[in-house]
Amino acid sequence: MRDVIIIGSGPAGYTAGIYTARAGLKPLLIASSVEAGGELMKTTEVENYPGFPEGMQGPDLMANFQAQAEKFGTEILLDDVVEVDLKGDVKIVKTGNGETFEAKAVILATGAAYRELGLPREKELSGHGVSWCATCDGFFFREKSIAVVGGGDSAMEEANFLTRFATKVYLIHRRDTFKASKIMVERALNNPKIEVIYNSEVVELKGEAQLNGVTLRNTTDGTTSDLALDGLFIAVGNDPRVWLVENQVELTPEKFIKVEGRSSKTSLPGVFACGDVIDPTYRQAITAAGSGCVAALDAEHYLTAH
Ligand code: NAP
Repeated sequence: MRDVIIIGSGPAGYTAGIYTARAGLKPLLIASSVEAGGELMKTTEVENYPGFPEGMQGPDLMANFQAQAEKFGTEILLDDVVEVDLKGDVKIVKTGNGETFEAKAVILATGAAYRELGLPREKELSGHGVSWCATCDGFFFREKSIAVVGGGDSAMEEANFLTRFATKVYLIHRRDTFKASKIMVERALNNPKIEVIYNSEVVELKGEAQLNGVTLRNTTDGTTSDLALDGLFIAVGNDPRVWLVENQVELTPEKFIKVEGRSSKTSLPGVFACGDVIDPTYRQAITAAGSGCVAALDAEHYLTAH
């Protein structure tokens, strides 16, 4: 049996790996088969991670996190956790490849998944003009006209990044003020290729096999209009990934994993949670990393006491 299994490989998971490995706990970190590295793998320049004044590409930063975790002996498995049983003293973790692992403690660092608009055919058109990842798909929209939906930091970042490829980037936001930070908004508003469409929401995706436009509804007067587009990037936030554990650990009313005070302790002994899956407020790489450190120290104390 293992001392500790970490589920998730964003800044929280890898930091938990670094700390538990350095504590001699030989952690197994299950990183996912396709989404290893988490949300920062889909990001471009990370400018606000302390210690890197010149900024760094998201995937490079995650490669560093991984290398540092491995350097101290974290074992990394590129597989998906499909089932867990966390209630007993022995925690059971099953993966998509059919392996079963046992551990005395588990750290949940499963992060958050992109939110959908909830429109008909949204999934069907994913990869056919509809995307959630500018860094992955931006290249396909050279000399095209595209739009980004959202008013947060992600939408600003994606819109700016996409101007490298597209001739025109509309930024569609449902209100007339932005949730994004001032510096990100200013950068978008000062970009000549970006045109903001305020007080508007996408109500219909148009096109058969490939998206060729959207219908917008004005949120102030209810009028609708059509906008021809080659691509639509959806950046309207994330929801915590809790499906694995939602019937086992207590959740908050907003469906984040509930932890005790400033700790990472969940409602189950020996089960700790960190990163975006517990955080409705801050959700930054640096806060996730700090939270991974807390979870590692909590797990270490738990194992010492038991
Ligand atoms: P977010 O901050 O939750 O913003 C989501 C945006 O999408 C909001 O403007 C929201 O509109 C809009 N929205 C939500 N549901 C919608 C819907 N169904 N239809 C239309 N619009 C909808 O999400 P985020 O931008 O992904 O950012 C998540 C976290 O990561 C934040 O803490 C952010 O600071 C952080 N982040 C930081 C950076 C950076 O610092 N470089 C980059 C990216 C992300 P309302 O404003 O009307 O609610």
